Amino acid sequence: MAIFDRAIVRLLPAVPRPVVQKLSERYIAGPELKDAREAVRRINAEGKLATIDVLGEEITTEEEAAAIVRAYQNVFADLEHCELDSNVSVKLTALGLKLGYDLCRDNLRIVVEDAASRRNFVRIDMEDSSTTDDTLRLYRELREEGYDNLGVVLQAMLRRTPSDIAALADLKPSVRLCKGIYLEPPDVAYQDFEAVRASFVRALEALLDAECYVAIATHDEWLLAKGRHLVAERGLRRDDYEFQMLLGVRPALGDELVLEGHRLRIYVPFGRHWYAYSLRRLQENPKIAGYIAADTLGRLIGRRNGSRGSG
Ligand SMILES: Cc1cc2nc3c(=O)[nH]c(=O)nc-3n(C[C@H](O)[C@H](O)[C@H](O)COP(=O)(O)OP(=O)(O)OC[C@H]3O[C@@H](n4cnc5c(N)ncnc54)[C@H](O)[C@@H]3O)c2cc1C
Repeated sequence: MAIFDRAIVRLLPAVPRPVVQKLSERYIAGPELKDAREAVRRINAEGKLATIDVLGEEITTEEEAAAIVRAYQNVFADLEHCELDSNVSVKLTALGLKLGYDLCRDNLRIVVEDAASRRNFVRIDMEDSSTTDDTLRLYRELREEGYDNLGVVLQAMLRRTPSDIAALADLKPSVRLCKGIYLEPPDVAYQDFEAVRASFVRALEALLDAECYVAIATHDEWLLAKGRHLVAERGLRRDDYEFQMLLGVRPALGDELVLEGHRLRIYVPFGRHWYAYSLRRLQENPKIAGYIAADTLGRLIGRRNGSRGSG
């Protein structure tokens, strides 16, 4: 499968842009804020919440980072104006982390402050392991400045995650727990599928033990079952936790969660840089290309057989 995934990724730049656009449109709301707005409107109408991610290509100047900050401010204003139920997710590299820690903190503070003034919330996405220390440090600094409308992400694949949970526990953080999407070396991250699952369950238990608000972000049916079991076992109420999924990925599983009464938040990326962004993400993790290829094939076969597919 790995060779197959890598082969797809190598072929991608040769695939005509409209074809890539067609394949990506299930996973990316579109190039403009209005596209994200309409996606969130549909998501809210289905009884789901959203989190909007402004796609930025690699930031190389302070002006580009400032443009991302303004884009988030526009998102908050629009959400408020349209009375939509969505928060935002930000990538620290898009806010200038690679240009300077202080610059990034200032930019993040502007976004979080704007969110706070509109009673909204900001989640810091977790990027590759070269950024984990800075991300967690920045998260702590802003929380200690009094910004409670800020959450973070921990990746089950990282070996360091249990100690990060222990170190953050005094802040009672709001944590999105996911497997982790970046390719990491074996000394940093578990490589084995079952080891990542086991680590996810251990991390989820530790976060719940520490009375954190957890966003369980996965489309893995086995983990979804574990997640349901753990929240039920602890008698958690509906607003003590949430599930999260990516736009366009296995929507039927999300519908099930909503029918059962769980809160579900959908991650909605949008932005003009969607093409470069999609290619880069696919090149970073060829496994996603395999998922998309398998899913597209499944849909085509499903359509030919007259079935809607499981989504
Ligand atoms: C809301 C949300 C936010 C996330 N934020 C981060 C983050 O900040 N940092 C980070 O490192 N990772 C993040 N991730 C990605 C996460 O780490 C995983 O890489 C991703 O969710 C796939 O893992 P899985 O738990 O769904 O299980 P898997 O076993 O990988 O996937 C289960 C099934 O879901 C489908 N699937 C999963 N992912 C995709 C995809 N991208 N495209 C098409 N089909 C797919 C496939 O059918 C697959 O068989 C996030 C994921 C979600 C849902």
